[in-house]
Amino acid sequence: MTFFALRDLVEDLRDARPTLWAGRSEGVRSTHAIDAVEVQQAVQRFVRFAPLLARLFPELQASGGRIESALFPVPQMQQALQLPEQLGRLWLKADHSLPVAGSIKARGGVHEVLEYAEQIALQHGLLADGDYLQLACDAARAMFARYQVAVGSTGNLGLSIGVMASGLGFKATVHMSADAKEWKKQRLRARGVQVVEHAGDYAQAVSAGRELADQDAHCHFVDDEHSLSLLLGYAAAAPHLVAQLAENKIAVDETHPLFVYIPCGVGGAPGGVALGLQQAFGPHVHCFFAEPVQSPCFMVEMLAGAAALPGLEAHPSVYELGLNNQTEADGLAVPRASELAANVVRGFLGGVFTVEDETLFRHLYLLKDREGLQIEPSAAAGFGGPRALLESAAGQDYLQRQKLLPHMASATHIVWTTGGLFVPDEEYARFLARGRDLSN
Ligand SMILES: *Cc1c(COP(=O)(O)O)cnc(C)c1O
Repeated sequence: MTFFALRDLVEDLRDARPTLWAGRSEGVRSTHAIDAVEVQQAVQRFVRFAPLLARLFPELQASGGRIESALFPVPQMQQALQLPEQLGRLWLKADHSLPVAGSIKARGGVHEVLEYAEQIALQHGLLADGDYLQLACDAARAMFARYQVAVGSTGNLGLSIGVMASGLGFKATVHMSADAKEWKKQRLRARGVQVVEHAGDYAQAVSAGRELADQDAHCHFVDDEHSLSLLLGYAAAAPHLVAQLAENKIAVDETHPLFVYIPCGVGGAPGGVALGLQQAFGPHVHCFFAEPVQSPCFMVEMLAGAAALPGLEAHPSVYELGLNNQTEADGLAVPRASELAANVVRGFLGGVFTVEDETLFRHLYLLKDREGLQIEPSAAAGFGGPRALLESAAGQDYLQRQKLLPHMASATHIVWTTGGLFVPDEEYARFLARGRDLSN
């Protein structure tokens, strides 16, 4: 990026105007490599636990304990977004309907709880015969009950960890920020999860929770900002998506680029997905992370890494840019990115773009109106991606640098919808009304 382009970008960022930063600059490398074997181990862990999960969660019986989502084209939405077919086809990866957790957190959060459960069970001499169903018996549950799983969360991560941990028999504690939604607290309490409310933002809830957990050797704290296990759980989404693309006869190669637009909070979920897809498709997949204009922590992290923001320390928060981290997209209201996720994706990330809250609501409404799909505001952030890429100077520059301009007609654009299944009807009705008002 030229000095002037960068200066304009930073100005847009500070003024909370939607903007796009494109990656893959010359000489930029990831500083944390993760081997494909590690992702494969996470995939295998989900496979080993599937029979147990099918036993414990009635909603997983039909899938044999697999927690997966559909991939399908959304032509009406494509039309509504005015994305011409000459620029590729729009698909949707429906993690908003993932069972158990109702969001993409069903991947990372569930994986981390399963990894902890497996470790404890092995320590206690269980699983020697490889039969995971025995973990549903009273003796195993009594053993898990002596351990605790804790997490700090704005909502969806807490739902995923809390429901899975208590489902296995662990004590489960979720530390929530003051702005967390009431229905999420209620849903957790109904499952026997202890909910602790903290004044202040998400980061403060996390550090308070971490401190309490540190004092207890029988407590595992799920650390959203640093957890490798979470990241690997998200990355494990890739092999199934690869199979879905093949089933739909969608090629991904030099002349068939794949663009993936995925909402970003700390960056663990999109970072993990991007990692898994990078391992599958190399440079032919282009992942773009979507953030609210007031919470662009991942973009800020990418810029600070390039020493482009003078006066900002390494690993800055959005507050240091004068932004307030206020957004209706509660799953994305994060002031500081995960350094782990940033260091993993830095070398291959396509880019990061920002979206205004009003756009989230308009896209939430359009998706319901045109495709009949119900998502939460955070999950709508990806829909602005294709236009941001195609219409911004930074996006055009990226397409040119990556030699993609001649191949856009054979491109596939996947918007990853990351949550919504459990949003209560009254709350969803308010989201929808707001989106409708903004659209008319
Ligand atoms: C958590 C979440 C994300 C982003 O995940 P991070 O790991 O925080 O980046 C996106 N959408 C929804 C609905 C979420 O709950």
